[in-house]
Amino acid sequence: MTADTTNPETIVLHGGYRNDPVTGAVAVPIYQTTSYQFNDAQHAENLFALKELGNIYTRIMNPTADVLEQRLAALEGGVAALALGSGQAASMYAVMNLCRSGDNFVSSTDLYGGTWNLFANTLKDFGVEARFVDPADPENFAKATDDRTRCYYAETLPNPKLNVFPIKEVADIGRGLGVPLIMDNTACPIICRPFDHGAAVVMYSTTKYLGGHGTSIGGMLVDGGNFDWEAHKERFPTLNEPDPSYHGAVWTEAVKPLGPIAFILRARVVLLRDVGAAPSPFNSFQTIQGLETLPLRMRAHCENAVKVADYLAGHDKVQTVIYPNQQDGEMRRRADAYMNGGYGALVGFELAGGKEAGAAFINSLNMFYHVANIGDARSLAIHPATTTHSQLSAEEQEQTGVTPGYVRLSIGIEHIDDIIADLDQALAAT
Ligand code: PLP
Repeated sequence: MTADTTNPETIVLHGGYRNDPVTGAVAVPIYQTTSYQFNDAQHAENLFALKELGNIYTRIMNPTADVLEQRLAALEGGVAALALGSGQAASMYAVMNLCRSGDNFVSSTDLYGGTWNLFANTLKDFGVEARFVDPADPENFAKATDDRTRCYYAETLPNPKLNVFPIKEVADIGRGLGVPLIMDNTACPIICRPFDHGAAVVMYSTTKYLGGHGTSIGGMLVDGGNFDWEAHKERFPTLNEPDPSYHGAVWTEAVKPLGPIAFILRARVVLLRDVGAAPSPFNSFQTIQGLETLPLRMRAHCENAVKVADYLAGHDKVQTVIYPNQQDGEMRRRADAYMNGGYGALVGFELAGGKEAGAAFINSLNMFYHVANIGDARSLAIHPATTTHSQLSAEEQEQTGVTPGYVRLSIGIEHIDDIIADLDQALAAT
């Protein structure tokens, strides 16, 4: 069985692989090889001409990564996926697969700082303009769109504000104008499936929840196969014009015998071939091990996080708790509309005592790790004012939603009593 089911608990264990055809191995093998022996000259010619899909070289494809890709595509309800060396590579490839110099894309302002830097500075240097808009009003995406707009980009559950993105509202606007929505779903796998709400491409840093162990950096793109790139030929020259690097292939034409995979096929055979941010087979193996328990872990993460949010809300040293269950109005409506089975494991809070209190809290933690990461099975904490945001002015910090007393927690799957006990004693020290 290769998981002919939509149940995530089964897909993560059985999707895309039964056993190794030669040895019978049940665990997915680590195919630690750079290259693959061709059967004969005809076979090699077919592979290079994309008449037949198969393994050529690990920079472009690998059987261990392939199982991970199939599992992610099935989990998301997409048609194909591409594993990459990091989440950063995945967001870079997502945009560069559609944008050329002189083009633009519209991005939510609520982004991971690394993505912000990539979009605001590095892509700008390559002549690609990110137009940042506030997702509080979905219409801002329409207003920023013109003929050279190639995609919309946003995070489902961006921290620190934890305002869930209006996926359907913006996807609908984009579909009306012929613009696909790319969603970074890193913070809420399983509990949100952006394709169900109209997104065209889903992106992940697999470094976080998907891996869960905190051992391996990785990224993933999933193609929803639900966007008609040919219906908007002028908007997507990379997919509809002859590709000189591939003997004039037009990707929307070339994929016809293979299914609606133009986006992901080009990302693989052009971007990955040329830029080469391939994951190591060992890291793909590690991520597969983590993925096996993702549905269980997400359940435990969410159950613990809601208890932490409630605990913090009742603590006299805590000024504000940032967690969807503490929100009301439109933001709560969005959280309920797009998240199913929990609100994720990120919890923010503001200490009344400001920067000193934040630093004292961090210095007093015993079990929580003080790290620049999220989505580990272990509980993690960071105080942006003394780390990621320390170089920003007070005004800039405020704009990003970070105040001097703000602390971000990534709640793990330890026993809830131990999590609360550590928070309790650290809060007492502030
Ligand atoms: N997207 C989000 C939401 C992230 O939190 C991160 C990393 O923190 C990334 C993308 C980048 O991923 P990576 O660190 O795997 O390159």
